[in-house]
Amino acid sequence: MITVQEAHSIISNNIQPLGFETVSLKNAGNRVLAQDITATFPMPQFDNSAMDGFAVRAVDTVGANKTSPVTLKMVDVSSAGTPSGVILKPGQCAQCMTGAVIPDGADAIVIVENTNGFSDSGIVQIFQETHIGEHIRRQGEEIEKSDVLISRGTCITPGEIGTLATFGYEKVSVMIKPKVAIFVTGSELVEPGNKIKIGQIYNSNLYMFAELAEKSGVEVVMREVIKDDKDSLRRLLSEALQTCDVIISSGGVSMGRFDYVREVYNKLGVQEHFWKVAQKPGKPLFFGRADSTLIFGLPGNPVSSFICYVEYVHPVMQDLQQKKRDPKHQAILTENFPVESKKYRYLFGRSWIDSRGKLLCSPASKMGSHMLTASLESNCILESPPRKQGLKAGDEITINPLNWRNIE
Ligand code: AMP
Ligand code: MG
Repeated sequence: MITVQEAHSIISNNIQPLGFETVSLKNAGNRVLAQDITATFPMPQFDNSAMDGFAVRAVDTVGANKTSPVTLKMVDVSSAGTPSGVILKPGQCAQCMTGAVIPDGADAIVIVENTNGFSDSGIVQIFQETHIGEHIRRQGEEIEKSDVLISRGTCITPGEIGTLATFGYEKVSVMIKPKVAIFVTGSELVEPGNKIKIGQIYNSNLYMFAELAEKSGVEVVMREVIKDDKDSLRRLLSEALQTCDVIISSGGVSMGRFDYVREVYNKLGVQEHFWKVAQKPGKPLFFGRADSTLIFGLPGNPVSSFICYVEYVHPVMQDLQQKKRDPKHQAILTENFPVESKKYRYLFGRSWIDSRGKLLCSPASKMGSHMLTASLESNCILESPPRKQGLKAGDEITINPLNWRNIE
Protein backbone atom coordinates (compact mmCIF):
# COMPACT_ATOMS: atom_id res chain seq x y z
CA MET A 1 0.00 0.00 0.00
CA ILE A 2 1.33 3.43 -0.93
CA THR A 3 0.71 6.86 0.55
CA VAL A 4 -1.53 9.52 -0.94
CA GLN A 5 1.54 11.59 -1.79
CA GLU A 6 3.18 8.66 -3.57
CA ALA A 7 -0.04 8.01 -5.49
CA HIS A 8 -0.18 11.62 -6.68
CA SER A 9 3.43 11.64 -7.77
CA ILE A 10 3.06 8.34 -9.69
CA ILE A 11 0.04 9.76 -11.48
CA SER A 12 1.84 13.04 -12.26
CA ASN A 13 4.73 11.15 -13.81
CA ASN A 14 2.32 9.53 -16.26
CA ILE A 15 0.58 12.64 -17.54
CA GLN A 16 1.30 13.90 -21.01
CA PRO A 17 -0.66 16.98 -22.11
CA LEU A 18 -2.87 16.32 -25.11
CA GLY A 19 -1.88 19.18 -27.41
CA PHE A 20 -4.13 21.79 -28.96
CA GLU A 21 -6.61 22.47 -31.73
CA THR A 22 -8.33 25.48 -33.27
CA VAL A 23 -12.00 26.08 -32.56
CA SER A 24 -14.40 28.83 -33.55
CA LEU A 25 -15.34 31.32 -30.90
CA LYS A 26 -18.85 29.85 -30.71
CA ASN A 27 -17.40 26.57 -29.48
CA ALA A 28 -14.71 28.02 -27.26
CA GLY A 29 -16.72 28.31 -24.01
CA ASN A 30 -15.29 26.30 -21.11
CA ARG A 31 -12.20 25.37 -23.13
CA VAL A 32 -8.64 26.10 -21.99
CA LEU A 33 -6.64 28.60 -24.05
CA ALA A 34 -3.52 27.23 -25.71
CA GLN A 35 -2.29 30.69 -26.76
CA ASP A 36 -1.70 34.04 -25.13
CA ILE A 37 -4.32 36.49 -26.32
CA THR A 38 -3.03 39.97 -27.14
CA ALA A 39 -4.87 43.16 -27.98
CA THR A 40 -5.08 43.47 -31.75
CA PHE A 41 -5.71 47.20 -31.37
CA PRO A 42 -5.92 49.76 -28.57
CA MET A 43 -9.19 49.87 -26.65
CA PRO A 44 -11.08 52.09 -27.22
CA GLN A 45 -9.93 52.06 -30.85
CA PHE A 46 -10.82 55.74 -31.28
CA ASP A 47 -11.92 58.63 -29.07
CA ASN A 48 -15.67 58.18 -28.64
CA SER A 49 -18.57 59.42 -26.63
CA ALA A 50 -19.51 57.79 -23.33
CA MET A 51 -22.99 59.35 -23.39
CA ASP A 52 -25.70 60.52 -25.77
CA GLY A 53 -25.31 64.28 -26.18
CA PHE A 54 -23.49 66.99 -28.06
CA ALA A 55 -19.85 67.13 -29.06
CA VAL A 56 -18.67 70.68 -28.30
CA ARG A 57 -15.58 72.78 -27.85
CA ALA A 58 -15.49 73.09 -24.04
CA VAL A 59 -14.42 76.72 -24.29
CA ASP A 60 -17.74 77.56 -26.03
CA THR A 61 -19.73 76.45 -22.97
CA VAL A 62 -18.06 78.70 -20.41
CA GLY A 63 -20.65 80.26 -18.12
CA ALA A 64 -23.58 78.23 -19.45
CA ASN A 65 -26.35 77.44 -16.97
CA LYS A 66 -30.08 76.87 -16.90
CA THR A 67 -30.96 80.57 -16.65
CA SER A 68 -28.42 81.82 -19.18
CA PRO A 69 -27.83 79.00 -21.65
CA VAL A 70 -25.24 79.15 -24.40
CA THR A 71 -26.66 78.69 -27.90
CA LEU A 72 -24.56 76.67 -30.36
CA LYS A 73 -25.04 75.89 -34.02
CA MET A 74 -25.71 72.19 -34.58
CA VAL A 75 -23.88 71.21 -37.76
CA ASP A 76 -23.93 67.40 -37.98
CA VAL A 77 -24.70 64.06 -36.31
CA SER A 78 -22.16 61.43 -35.30
CA SER A 79 -23.77 58.12 -34.42
CA ALA A 80 -22.30 54.76 -33.45
CA GLY A 81 -20.97 53.26 -36.68
CA THR A 82 -21.47 56.46 -38.70
CA PRO A 83 -18.91 59.14 -37.91
CA SER A 84 -19.42 62.77 -38.83
CA GLY A 85 -17.09 64.32 -41.38
CA VAL A 86 -17.23 67.88 -40.01
CA ILE A 87 -14.55 69.84 -38.19
CA LEU A 88 -16.18 71.93 -35.49
CA LYS A 89 -15.56 75.65 -35.68
CA PRO A 90 -16.11 78.08 -32.78
CA GLY A 91 -19.78 78.23 -31.81
CA GLN A 92 -20.60 74.91 -33.45
CA CYS A 93 -21.53 71.50 -32.07
CA ALA A 94 -22.65 68.10 -33.35
CA GLN A 95 -25.08 65.57 -31.99
CA CYS A 96 -22.95 62.68 -30.81
CA MET A 97 -24.34 59.35 -29.57
CA THR A 98 -22.82 56.81 -27.19
CA GLY A 99 -19.96 54.97 -28.88
CA ALA A 100 -19.82 57.44 -31.80
CA VAL A 101 -16.54 58.95 -32.99
CA ILE A 102 -15.82 62.41 -31.50
CA PRO A 103 -15.83 64.84 -34.45
CA ASP A 104 -12.60 66.73 -35.11
CA GLY A 105 -12.45 70.02 -33.29
CA ALA A 106 -14.65 68.81 -30.40
CA ASP A 107 -13.04 68.20 -27.02
CA ALA A 108 -16.00 67.42 -24.72
CA ILE A 109 -19.51 65.99 -24.63
CA VAL A 110 -22.47 67.74 -23.05
CA ILE A 111 -25.04 65.10 -22.16
CA VAL A 112 -28.44 65.60 -23.81
CA GLU A 113 -30.08 66.02 -20.38
CA ASN A 114 -28.11 69.28 -19.98
CA THR A 115 -29.47 70.77 -23.22
CA ASN A 116 -32.88 71.54 -24.72
CA GLY A 117 -32.66 68.17 -26.50
CA PHE A 118 -32.15 66.65 -29.92
CA SER A 119 -34.05 68.46 -32.65
CA ASP A 120 -33.70 69.35 -36.31
CA SER A 121 -33.78 73.09 -35.65
CA GLY A 122 -30.05 73.52 -36.32
CA ILE A 123 -29.42 75.17 -32.95
CA VAL A 124 -29.18 73.87 -29.41
CA GLN A 125 -29.17 75.45 -25.99
CA ILE A 126 -26.50 74.25 -23.57
CA PHE A 127 -27.48 74.47 -19.89
CA GLN A 128 -24.21 73.51 -18.27
CA GLU A 129 -20.58 74.41 -18.61
CA THR A 130 -18.35 71.47 -19.52
CA HIS A 131 -14.62 70.71 -19.41
CA ILE A 132 -12.12 69.30 -21.85
CA GLY A 133 -12.39 65.50 -21.96
CA GLU A 134 -15.79 65.32 -20.26
CA HIS A 135 -17.63 62.08 -21.22
CA ILE A 136 -14.99 61.20 -23.78
CA ARG A 137 -13.56 57.69 -23.81
CA ARG A 138 -9.98 58.12 -24.95
CA GLN A 139 -8.28 55.85 -27.44
CA GLY A 140 -6.20 53.24 -25.55
CA GLU A 141 -7.39 54.27 -22.07
CA GLU A 142 -8.44 50.69 -21.26
CA ILE A 143 -5.88 48.61 -23.17
CA GLU A 144 -2.88 49.39 -25.32
CA LYS A 145 -2.24 47.57 -28.56
CA SER A 146 -0.32 44.28 -28.05
CA ASP A 147 -1.03 44.09 -24.30
CA VAL A 148 -1.45 40.46 -23.17
CA LEU A 149 -5.13 40.20 -22.26
CA ILE A 150 -5.51 36.54 -21.35
CA SER A 151 -2.73 34.07 -20.79
CA ARG A 152 -2.42 30.52 -22.04
CA GLY A 153 -3.92 27.98 -19.64
CA THR A 154 -6.89 30.18 -18.74
CA CYS A 155 -10.34 28.65 -18.94
CA ILE A 156 -12.67 30.53 -21.29
CA THR A 157 -15.58 31.83 -19.20
CA PRO A 158 -18.08 34.60 -20.11
CA GLY A 159 -15.51 37.38 -19.48
CA GLU A 160 -12.86 35.73 -21.67
CA ILE A 161 -15.20 34.95 -24.53
CA GLY A 162 -16.56 38.51 -24.51
CA THR A 163 -13.01 39.87 -24.56
CA LEU A 164 -12.01 37.58 -27.44
CA ALA A 165 -14.97 38.82 -29.46
CA THR A 166 -14.20 42.44 -28.52
CA PHE A 167 -10.78 42.11 -30.12
CA GLY A 168 -12.07 40.36 -33.22
CA TYR A 169 -10.87 36.83 -32.55
CA GLU A 170 -12.97 34.49 -34.64
CA LYS A 171 -10.97 31.36 -33.87
CA VAL A 172 -8.73 30.45 -30.97
CA SER A 173 -6.27 27.74 -30.16
CA VAL A 174 -7.44 25.62 -27.22
CA MET A 175 -6.16 22.52 -25.46
CA ILE A 176 -7.63 19.27 -26.73
CA LYS A 177 -10.29 17.93 -24.38
CA PRO A 178 -9.59 14.50 -22.94
CA LYS A 179 -11.85 11.79 -24.39
CA VAL A 180 -13.17 9.86 -21.46
CA ALA A 181 -14.91 6.53 -20.86
CA ILE A 182 -16.99 6.19 -17.74
CA PHE A 183 -17.96 2.72 -16.60
CA VAL A 184 -19.68 1.37 -13.55
CA THR A 185 -19.55 -2.29 -12.68
CA GLY A 186 -21.79 -4.42 -10.49
CA SER A 187 -24.40 -7.11 -11.15
CA GLU A 188 -26.58 -5.51 -8.49
CA LEU A 189 -26.98 -2.25 -10.42
CA VAL A 190 -30.32 -1.21 -11.88
CA GLU A 191 -31.04 1.94 -13.84
CA PRO A 192 -33.33 4.53 -12.27
CA GLY A 193 -36.81 4.16 -13.72
CA ASN A 194 -36.86 0.37 -13.32
CA LYS A 195 -38.23 -1.68 -10.41
CA ILE A 196 -35.62 -3.09 -8.08
CA LYS A 197 -35.70 -6.40 -6.28
CA ILE A 198 -34.32 -6.94 -2.84
CA GLY A 199 -30.53 -6.85 -2.95
CA GLN A 200 -30.38 -4.64 -6.01
CA ILE A 201 -29.56 -0.95 -5.93
CA TYR A 202 -29.90 1.93 -8.34
CA ASN A 203 -26.78 2.90 -10.20
CA SER A 204 -25.78 6.36 -9.00
CA ASN A 205 -22.09 6.48 -9.89
CA LEU A 206 -22.49 6.69 -13.65
CA TYR A 207 -24.70 9.77 -13.36
CA MET A 208 -22.32 11.27 -10.85
CA PHE A 209 -19.28 10.61 -13.06
CA ALA A 210 -21.00 12.21 -16.04
CA GLU A 211 -21.65 15.37 -14.03
CA LEU A 212 -18.15 15.40 -12.56
CA ALA A 213 -16.67 14.94 -16.04
CA GLU A 214 -18.75 17.86 -17.25
CA LYS A 215 -17.32 19.98 -14.43
CA SER A 216 -13.82 18.94 -15.52
CA GLY A 217 -14.56 20.11 -19.07
CA VAL A 218 -13.89 16.75 -20.73
CA GLU A 219 -15.74 14.80 -23.38
CA VAL A 220 -17.46 11.59 -22.33
CA VAL A 221 -17.37 9.27 -25.35
CA MET A 222 -18.41 5.98 -23.71
CA ARG A 223 -20.69 5.37 -20.74
CA GLU A 224 -21.68 1.89 -19.75
CA VAL A 225 -23.09 -0.15 -16.90
CA ILE A 226 -21.26 -3.49 -16.84
CA LYS A 227 -22.21 -6.68 -14.99
CA ASP A 228 -19.59 -8.44 -12.89
CA ASP A 229 -18.76 -10.59 -15.88
CA LYS A 230 -15.26 -10.88 -17.32
CA ASP A 231 -16.33 -11.09 -20.96
CA SER A 232 -18.36 -7.90 -21.02
CA LEU A 233 -15.70 -6.16 -18.97
CA ARG A 234 -13.01 -7.23 -21.42
CA ARG A 235 -15.01 -6.20 -24.48
CA LEU A 236 -15.92 -2.71 -23.24
CA LEU A 237 -12.62 -1.94 -21.57
CA SER A 238 -10.62 -2.95 -24.64
CA GLU A 239 -12.79 -0.73 -26.82
CA ALA A 240 -12.20 2.15 -24.42
CA LEU A 241 -8.46 1.54 -24.45
CA GLN A 242 -8.49 2.08 -28.22
CA THR A 243 -10.48 5.31 -28.18
CA CYS A 244 -10.04 7.15 -24.88
CA ASP A 245 -7.44 9.24 -23.11
CA VAL A 246 -8.85 8.41 -19.69
CA ILE A 247 -10.93 5.49 -18.44
CA ILE A 248 -12.78 5.85 -15.17
CA SER A 249 -14.54 2.85 -13.70
CA SER A 250 -16.23 2.27 -10.40
CA GLY A 251 -16.54 -0.94 -8.46
CA GLY A 252 -14.96 -4.33 -8.81
CA VAL A 253 -11.49 -3.37 -7.58
CA SER A 254 -11.77 -4.57 -3.98
CA MET A 255 -11.27 -8.01 -2.49
CA GLY A 256 -14.69 -9.46 -3.39
CA ARG A 257 -15.05 -12.76 -5.25
CA PHE A 258 -16.56 -10.99 -8.23
CA ASP A 259 -14.18 -8.04 -8.34
CA TYR A 260 -12.71 -8.70 -11.78
CA VAL A 261 -11.85 -5.19 -12.94
CA ARG A 262 -8.20 -5.23 -11.96
CA GLU A 263 -7.66 -8.71 -13.39
CA VAL A 264 -9.24 -7.72 -16.71
CA TYR A 265 -7.18 -4.52 -16.91
CA ASN A 266 -4.04 -6.57 -16.33
CA LYS A 267 -5.04 -9.13 -18.96
CA LEU A 268 -5.65 -6.33 -21.47
CA GLY A 269 -2.07 -5.19 -21.06
CA VAL A 270 -2.69 -2.26 -18.75
CA GLN A 271 0.41 -1.55 -16.75
CA GLU A 272 -0.64 -1.35 -13.11
CA HIS A 273 1.07 1.58 -11.40
CA PHE A 274 -0.63 1.16 -8.08
CA TRP A 275 -3.52 -0.58 -6.40
CA LYS A 276 -4.45 0.43 -2.86
CA VAL A 277 -3.66 3.73 -1.25
CA ALA A 278 -3.49 4.40 2.48
CA GLN A 279 -6.65 6.48 2.59
CA LYS A 280 -10.22 6.38 3.82
CA PRO A 281 -12.44 6.22 1.92
CA GLY A 282 -11.02 4.94 -1.37
CA LYS A 283 -8.41 2.42 -0.24
CA PRO A 284 -8.69 0.03 -3.24
CA LEU A 285 -7.98 2.82 -5.77
CA PHE A 286 -6.35 1.41 -8.92
CA PHE A 287 -4.23 3.40 -11.36
CA GLY A 288 -2.68 2.09 -14.54
CA ARG A 289 -1.71 3.05 -18.03
CA ALA A 290 -1.79 1.45 -21.46
CA ASP A 291 0.07 3.48 -24.09
CA SER A 292 -1.18 6.97 -23.45
CA THR A 293 -4.50 5.96 -21.87
CA LEU A 294 -4.74 6.56 -18.14
CA ILE A 295 -6.96 4.19 -16.19
CA PHE A 296 -8.57 4.90 -12.85
CA GLY A 297 -10.39 2.08 -11.10
CA LEU A 298 -12.36 3.73 -8.32
CA PRO A 299 -14.04 1.78 -5.53
CA GLY A 300 -17.80 1.35 -5.96
CA ASN A 301 -19.05 2.99 -2.80
CA PRO A 302 -20.50 6.25 -4.07
CA VAL A 303 -18.69 8.49 -1.56
CA SER A 304 -15.37 6.77 -2.32
CA SER A 305 -15.96 7.16 -6.03
CA PHE A 306 -16.92 10.82 -5.68
CA ILE A 307 -14.00 11.73 -3.44
CA CYS A 308 -11.46 9.76 -5.53
CA TYR A 309 -12.71 11.56 -8.63
CA VAL A 310 -12.36 15.00 -7.05
CA GLU A 311 -9.00 14.27 -5.44
CA TYR A 312 -7.30 12.24 -8.19
CA VAL A 313 -9.15 12.34 -11.49
CA HIS A 314 -10.17 16.00 -11.67
CA PRO A 315 -6.59 17.32 -11.24
CA VAL A 316 -5.46 14.95 -14.01
CA MET A 317 -8.15 16.33 -16.30
CA GLN A 318 -6.80 19.81 -15.55
CA ASP A 319 -3.19 18.75 -16.16
CA LEU A 320 -4.07 17.07 -19.46
CA GLN A 321 -5.54 20.40 -20.56
CA GLN A 322 -2.63 22.35 -19.03
CA LYS A 323 -5.04 24.26 -16.86
CA LYS A 324 -4.01 25.65 -13.50
CA ARG A 325 -5.12 23.30 -10.74
CA ASP A 326 -7.89 24.45 -8.42
CA PRO A 327 -6.38 25.55 -5.11
CA LYS A 328 -7.02 23.93 -1.75
CA HIS A 329 -7.34 26.11 1.34
CA GLN A 330 -6.69 25.99 5.07
CA ALA A 331 -9.73 26.37 7.30
CA ILE A 332 -10.43 26.25 11.03
CA LEU A 333 -12.48 23.32 12.29
CA THR A 334 -15.52 24.15 14.41
CA GLU A 335 -15.91 20.47 15.37
CA ASN A 336 -13.56 17.55 15.93
CA PHE A 337 -12.35 15.69 12.83
CA PRO A 338 -11.83 11.93 13.09
CA VAL A 339 -8.29 11.42 11.72
CA GLU A 340 -6.76 7.99 11.07
CA SER A 341 -3.38 7.00 12.45
CA LYS A 342 -2.15 5.31 9.25
CA LYS A 343 -4.47 6.57 6.56
CA TYR A 344 -5.20 9.86 4.91
CA ARG A 345 -8.77 10.80 5.85
CA TYR A 346 -11.32 12.59 3.66
CA LEU A 347 -14.81 13.66 4.62
CA PHE A 348 -17.42 15.75 2.93
CA GLY A 349 -17.91 19.00 4.77
CA ARG A 350 -19.07 22.55 4.77
CA SER A 351 -16.99 25.70 4.86
CA TRP A 352 -18.00 29.29 5.39
CA ILE A 353 -16.52 32.67 6.19
CA ASP A 354 -17.46 34.11 9.57
CA SER A 355 -18.18 37.76 10.36
CA ARG A 356 -14.47 38.40 11.02
CA GLY A 357 -13.47 36.96 7.65
CA LYS A 358 -12.11 33.66 8.99
CA LEU A 359 -12.58 30.53 6.91
CA LEU A 360 -14.27 27.92 9.08
CA CYS A 361 -15.37 24.37 8.33
CA SER A 362 -17.04 21.33 9.77
CA PRO A 363 -17.28 17.72 8.58
CA ALA A 364 -20.59 16.27 7.40
CA SER A 365 -22.37 14.30 10.09
CA LYS A 366 -22.82 11.25 7.82
CA MET A 367 -19.42 9.65 7.56
CA GLY A 368 -19.97 6.28 5.88
CA SER A 369 -18.56 5.73 2.40
CA HIS A 370 -22.01 4.54 1.27
CA MET A 371 -23.73 7.73 2.50
CA LEU A 372 -23.86 9.86 -0.61
CA THR A 373 -26.48 12.20 0.85
CA ALA A 374 -23.61 13.65 2.92
CA SER A 375 -22.66 15.45 -0.29
CA LEU A 376 -25.92 17.39 -0.25
CA GLU A 377 -24.95 19.44 2.81
CA SER A 378 -21.36 19.91 1.62
CA ASN A 379 -19.38 22.40 -0.40
CA CYS A 380 -15.91 20.92 0.11
CA ILE A 381 -13.91 17.89 1.10
CA LEU A 382 -12.06 18.11 4.42
CA GLU A 383 -8.82 16.19 4.42
CA SER A 384 -6.08 15.26 6.82
CA PRO A 385 -2.89 13.23 6.46
CA PRO A 386 -2.48 10.36 8.94
CA ARG A 387 -2.04 11.63 12.50
CA LYS A 388 -1.62 10.09 15.90
CA GLN A 389 -3.66 12.78 17.61
CA GLY A 390 -7.14 13.78 16.53
CA LEU A 391 -7.94 17.19 15.13
CA LYS A 392 -10.06 19.27 17.46
CA ALA A 393 -12.34 22.26 17.07
CA GLY A 394 -10.03 25.25 16.57
CA ASP A 395 -7.38 23.25 14.67
CA GLU A 396 -6.53 23.96 11.07
CA ILE A 397 -7.39 21.50 8.31
CA THR A 398 -7.10 21.46 4.51
CA ILE A 399 -10.27 21.83 2.48
CA ASN A 400 -10.72 21.06 -1.19
CA PRO A 401 -13.64 23.20 -2.41
CA LEU A 402 -16.22 21.60 -4.69
CA ASN A 403 -15.89 24.37 -7.22
CA TRP A 404 -19.50 24.29 -8.38
CA ARG A 405 -20.66 25.14 -4.87
CA ASN A 406 -20.10 28.44 -3.09
CA ILE A 407 -18.27 28.84 0.18
CA GLU A 408 -20.99 30.49 2.25
P1 AMP B 1 -17.53 -2.66 -5.05
O1 AMP B 1 -16.40 -1.64 -5.07
O2 AMP B 1 -17.86 -3.18 -6.41
O3 AMP B 1 -17.26 -3.71 -4.05
O4 AMP B 1 -18.80 -1.85 -4.55
C1 AMP B 1 -18.85 -1.31 -3.24
C2 AMP B 1 -20.23 -0.86 -2.89
O5 AMP B 1 -20.62 0.18 -3.78
C3 AMP B 1 -21.30 -1.93 -3.05
O6 AMP B 1 -22.22 -1.77 -2.00
C4 AMP B 1 -21.93 -1.63 -4.37
O7 AMP B 1 -23.25 -2.09 -4.46
C5 AMP B 1 -21.85 -0.11 -4.40
N1 AMP B 1 -21.82 0.35 -5.78
C6 AMP B 1 -20.98 -0.09 -6.74
N2 AMP B 1 -21.23 0.53 -7.90
C7 AMP B 1 -22.22 1.40 -7.68
C8 AMP B 1 -22.93 2.33 -8.50
N3 AMP B 1 -22.65 2.48 -9.79
N4 AMP B 1 -23.90 3.07 -7.94
C9 AMP B 1 -24.19 2.92 -6.62
N5 AMP B 1 -23.56 2.07 -5.81
C10 AMP B 1 -22.59 1.29 -6.31
MG1 MG C 1 -19.06 -4.59 -7.15
